[in-house]
Amino acid sequence: MARMLDFVLGHQDIISKLVTSFEQGKPGQTYLFVGPAGIGKKLTALGLAQALLCPQSPRGCGKCPSCFRISQGAHEGLKIVEPSGAQIKMEQAKEVIEFLSLKSLTGNRVIIIDQAQSLNPQAANSLLKTLEEPPAGTFFFLIAPSVAGLMQTIRSRSRIVQFKPLTMEDLAKKVKAPAWALKSAQGSFEKLAQLQEGPEQELRQKSIEILNLFLKDKDFLLNEAWRSEFKDRAQGQRLLSYWVSFMKDAVYLQEDVKNQIINLDQAPLIKALAESSREVLLNLIQKSLRAEHALGANRDPQLVMEEFYITSKE
Ligand SMILES: [Zn+2]
Repeated sequence: MARMLDFVLGHQDIISKLVTSFEQGKPGQTYLFVGPAGIGKKLTALGLAQALLCPQSPRGCGKCPSCFRISQGAHEGLKIVEPSGAQIKMEQAKEVIEFLSLKSLTGNRVIIIDQAQSLNPQAANSLLKTLEEPPAGTFFFLIAPSVAGLMQTIRSRSRIVQFKPLTMEDLAKKVKAPAWALKSAQGSFEKLAQLQEGPEQELRQKSIEILNLFLKDKDFLLNEAWRSEFKDRAQGQRLLSYWVSFMKDAVYLQEDVKNQIINLDQAPLIKALAESSREVLLNLIQKSLRAEHALGANRDPQLVMEEFYITSKE
């Protein structure tokens, strides 16, 4: 059991500002946390719920039954709303309003609406009045990737708090991962976890093998080895996105901006790629991106790759 805020990595400026405003007794009541997925927005909201509901300390003590129940997601004063299916629906908005009308609860109440961009219009509209003027002691934390997907009426009623992606150093503190994965994760724990999964590592390895075939095998078109990997459109796109990442690294190496290089564990490959001219590399990057796009647009993956190969040799 512990203070959940102590487990949030980074975002310390945001947390201290909010906790101070709670302590000074002039807090806002409706917050909109925006920023990339997997960087700690929800954990921050839960930690703040501990602070707001803790009878021991305005910062949350992390030790009392109230703090414990929040860490278990089971506190009578906390309501967490998430999409059921693709949307947050009207019934769920009604539950929030019922929760706020419960007379049996004393003390603060906290509502966390995760994936608030999924609020369907009816659900959002039914909450507008409450979001604008929540009852005393009621706090809303809406969480979304960006303000863009949210209705203007919701945005205008919220204090917007922008969360920044974590730095590589932040991630490295918490997770043991190779440098290339830390860099590729672009500040998201979620992405980092995905990158470290076995199947993703295998896919990356395959992308390297196929890239080598593509560049060196004169009989690439007759080679069956790569074809089976390009049967699945989504997998083909992932393979190509790794190619782009390797080739960009080669450009960075040529430019001597080594701190931009992501795939630090693939030095021999990057070096070999960097021996091609800039023009060739940029052309390959552009064609890879185009092929990736074509796979998303329902073109036959193997045909797309054949075309890519033939035009890259022209
Ligand atoms: Zn407590």
